[in-house]
Amino acid sequence: MDSIEKILEDKLYIAGPCSIESKEQILDIGKKVKALGANVLRGGAFKPRTSPDSFQGLGKEGIDYLVEVKKELDLPIVTEIVDINHLSYYEDVDIIQVGARNMQNFELLKALGKTDKWILLKRSFGCTVNEWLSAAEYIKAGGNDKIILCERGIRTFEDSTRFTFDVNAIAVVKDKSAYKIIVDPSHATGNSKYVESATYAGIASGADGFIIEIHDNPKESITDPDQAITPDTLEKIIKNSNKIKDIIEE
Ligand code: PEP
Ligand code: MN
Repeated sequence: MDSIEKILEDKLYIAGPCSIESKEQILDIGKKVKALGANVLRGGAFKPRTSPDSFQGLGKEGIDYLVEVKKELDLPIVTEIVDINHLSYYEDVDIIQVGARNMQNFELLKALGKTDKWILLKRSFGCTVNEWLSAAEYIKAGGNDKIILCERGIRTFEDSTRFTFDVNAIAVVKDKSAYKIIVDPSHATGNSKYVESATYAGIASGADGFIIEIHDNPKESITDPDQAITPDTLEKIIKNSNKIKDIIEE
């Protein structure tokens, strides 16, 4: 299995379901996205939901399924952490995601700074780039500089999409820091119809990769059904993203 360091030398293409729904589902999606060229599998197990009545994820059981799939497919995995008391569940997780809602959970950031894990720090939808870079400094201050940033859309007056994809942030982050940065066109748009175009904008702006939500039957996805794309669309996105990368790296 390639290390995250090695993957980051080229491109980080993360794909998988918003939420892990069953062992069968995450294994099946994992096989498909790996065959298409994704190099890390995502799957949410602890889900920070706006409503307490919404599905909260399979929790530790979900992480256990994801780890089993990692071993079966020889594919690195990423999943979100919401509580530092859960850290022991993430021993075999390659990249720990800090979600938008926890970007300024400073105690969580400090604790992750004391680990040797790769951290995917998503931008809060209510924070500036400078606040986001300061959040990264909290992790780094603890001694961990294995940080990847992720632009996932911010909240503006625009309501035709779920969030507004701040494509400017990619060049700004590259200018002001040395961090790797990927884009999340799934949450940034909230609409499967716009995921493809937002991905290309991100890659063309110099992003080091993406994280995209995939489902075989998007409408059936327990969480975020409107933004999930099928493996077919991912195939097209990967091919075109590779071409765009080749052009801008010339
Ligand atoms: C997610 O990746 O499933 C997620 C909840 O993202 P965000 O924290 O960006 O909303
Ligand atoms: Mn989601």
